[in-house]
Amino acid sequence: MNAPSNTPPVVRSTCPYCGVGCGVLASPDGRGGAMISGDPDHPANFGRLCSKGSALGETLRLDTRLLHPMLRRPDGTYSRTAWNAALGRVADGFRRIVERDGPDAVAFYLSGQLLTEDYYVANKLMKGFIGTANVDTNSRLCMASSVAGHRRAFGADIVPGCYADLDEADLIILVGSNAAWCHPVLFQRMVKNKRERGARIVVIDPRRTATAEEADHFLPIAPGMDTVLFAGLLTHLADANAFDAAFIESHTSGLGATLARCRNIAPSLDAIAAKTGLDAGDILRFFDLFSATQRVVTCYSQGVNQSAQGTDKVNAIINCHLATGRIGKPGAGPLSLTGQPNAMGGREVGGLANQLAAHMGFTPDEIERVGRFWHAPNMAQREGLKAVQMFEAIARGEIKALWVMATNPAVSLPNAGAVRKALAKLELFIVSDNVLSNDTVGSGAHVLFPAAAWGEKNGTVTNSERRISRQRAFLPLPGEAKPDWWIVSQVALRMGFAAAFAYASAADIFREHAALSAFENDGSRDFDIGAVADIEDQAFESLSPFQWPNTAAIGSANSTRLFAEGDFYTPDSRGRFLAPQAPALHSEANAAFPFILNTGRIRDQWHTMTRTGLSPRLSTHLAEPFVEIHPDDATRAGLYPDSFARVTTVNGSCILRVCISDGQRRGELFAPIHWSDENASSARIGELIQPITDPISGQPESKATPAAIAQEDYRLSGFVLSKQAIDLPGHTWWARSAANGGEAFVFASNDRLELWREWTHRHVYGGPSLSEYLDEPRGIYRAAFFEGDSLAFCLFLGPATQRPRWDVARALLAAKTLQQSQRRILLSGESADGMADAGPTVCACYGVGLNTIRNAIASGDASDVASIGRTLRAGTNCGSCIPELKKIVDRHEAQDESRTPHPASAH
Ligand code: SF4
Repeated sequence: MNAPSNTPPVVRSTCPYCGVGCGVLASPDGRGGAMISGDPDHPANFGRLCSKGSALGETLRLDTRLLHPMLRRPDGTYSRTAWNAALGRVADGFRRIVERDGPDAVAFYLSGQLLTEDYYVANKLMKGFIGTANVDTNSRLCMASSVAGHRRAFGADIVPGCYADLDEADLIILVGSNAAWCHPVLFQRMVKNKRERGARIVVIDPRRTATAEEADHFLPIAPGMDTVLFAGLLTHLADANAFDAAFIESHTSGLGATLARCRNIAPSLDAIAAKTGLDAGDILRFFDLFSATQRVVTCYSQGVNQSAQGTDKVNAIINCHLATGRIGKPGAGPLSLTGQPNAMGGREVGGLANQLAAHMGFTPDEIERVGRFWHAPNMAQREGLKAVQMFEAIARGEIKALWVMATNPAVSLPNAGAVRKALAKLELFIVSDNVLSNDTVGSGAHVLFPAAAWGEKNGTVTNSERRISRQRAFLPLPGEAKPDWWIVSQVALRMGFAAAFAYASAADIFREHAALSAFENDGSRDFDIGAVADIEDQAFESLSPFQWPNTAAIGSANSTRLFAEGDFYTPDSRGRFLAPQAPALHSEANAAFPFILNTGRIRDQWHTMTRTGLSPRLSTHLAEPFVEIHPDDATRAGLYPDSFARVTTVNGSCILRVCISDGQRRGELFAPIHWSDENASSARIGELIQPITDPISGQPESKATPAAIAQEDYRLSGFVLSKQAIDLPGHTWWARSAANGGEAFVFASNDRLELWREWTHRHVYGGPSLSEYLDEPRGIYRAAFFEGDSLAFCLFLGPATQRPRWDVARALLAAKTLQQSQRRILLSGESADGMADAGPTVCACYGVGLNTIRNAIASGDASDVASIGRTLRAGTNCGSCIPELKKIVDRHEAQDESRTPHPASAH
């Protein structure tokens, strides 16, 4: 579309990462790549992209792709096979196991990265034709508590508000959300409101994150205590006569019992302060702000959802909006920030084990209705197993066949070590993915299906504000890759269900999905996009983003809000107050595990890095797995900046770089979730998390695991840069990242210098053309190998207390031609001529490093965020790094930069 004859075609699509769902413009370069920019007409982002979206063009490589169907040989290696053979093996295997052990012996584990059409077909096959609801998704780890909270309060899984509310709110509350890093484009919208309209921002989070840096009021709450705080808010609103009595009277039910419970949980300000660890005055200030402000949006995300009391937390927040009638009105309402790009689309088709399809459940009427619509012979009659329980059933041998699509449960599920062992027991284990290798594939998959990747797929996704957008292909399918919906349909065909899966395109599936949403829907079901059930192929191709249920607004950026006048989807049309339980205590620290481990995302990576990890630009912000700890705790544990620590829980342990941060509460640790066995030696954080789940949503508690931390000593540390793929010696601590021109490792070791020298000679390049520098008394060894005029390999190794800087060497690896002076100076460890040491990347959009920013401040060229932007452009594109720029300015002013050597804190 939009293809003037003499310019490259520009294709409108959506970003494949977070739930903001930004529109992108893709301009293919004809060589397998594409230029990516923000779509100025997309209502989610109006042209903005964050660092991850901006770097999408760097991730379109094929060298890590699974391009052909593969079968596992007995020795664990894989051989290429024909599509027909792979599909037949899967269909036969499923049929055999279902006949022998029943339909509940098989399961699908799907992903919020799938398109709605992929999700729809997988769900239909399993729930309508195979006859089990054992279909769950990684959205269980992300959104399940919000879904359950919505259904309890509203009678349907529906987000009442929209992004435009963030422009119109006078008070924005962020609970358990590091939106500055995890939903950056939306966060910049909030910041714009703050700057231009004076909206105030309150951040409630155990960590002082980048988001908190923008807060007018920061509440560093104790883990798991959100319910207490919002129970206290409800009682405060009651006592302050801040309720909307008319709204409560006309449109809600259950306030009396809820308020009574909340008074029990939060009997006084002092009691709230004691439980939440917050200052009583700070709590009161927050309560008064909420009480006095009509236009309030409360955004919440994984810090609320990923909890053993996640559903109650969600309802505790919604209670306060129902009580004040601040819902569905401009600038007012609760707003769940979805983690994944299509978590909501997956829910729309019933991609969770406790949903059927089109927001219907498992009542006899709904089962009968969906069965009739699908002409399904074997409808599932009850809910299936949710993610954690599904993998426990696999471990017990009850589920014998599993098909994993577009996700990496061996990394992301709690107790990931047990998940790996469970996967290895499966009689039939299928993975559809677009990477040749990840921890899940490495857990013994029998069949690998090459799935189409972003840029090759066609279909729709739904973002956090119910806006359905097209994801369009702008690259040809490489190798033998196929869309997920095609793969599932082909298996269905071979299982004898050809007529129900005879789809020719994603548009065919979208029409059926839309028709089901309207089928016998008298308005009692919220999800109804029947208006597009007859959409022509051409119209589907050019479909503009639209927000359901307002299909009348297709083609406009208008937003739809719900429930301002009640009309909830409950049987009595009233919104329900829900009485939360007092927070449970099972995640308390104890003598053996005296810390509470929190987990989360970092700014420039996504999930298990299979895509973002391909971008050299994104890999320079935080290139290695780390654990954040408060300075006082670090001192007590004998940890110093850049040292290493072993973090242990009852499930296992990881070894991580130490980052000391006063943004961390005492007694708590934080570690990012992104690293796996593919890209680090000991950093699969999912392995540490207990499989404790919310009793209603089934979502795991990923934010509060009792843990211990101890020094892990290494004598040496360093880095390796290499044009070719290499493996470091087996007992080395390492983390691998993408570099321009090759790959980069940071590593630590207790081996002798001489052993590393031998390894370099023996395993890497050797020979007379290797340049070396050895200073045994100081414990330094450096080696570099040049091929022609360019650097092919270098290794820097020194005492672990003096971490060598790699920024100049990384730049030299990327250079096509090195000058003699640059070659000479490389091993000296100094800056090469003409190549300033920019330091770790702060602004990923323009590649601006910490040292460059510090130098600009020191020289007087810049003094604040605005002048840094004018001088260096840093922070002027997506704005994700602005909180870090502020910190750098503040620290320069306080002349307190010596304590901050790790990028996570230095920024
Ligand atoms: S905020 Fe960033 S990651 Fe999220 S959809 Fe937009 S560009 Fe993609």
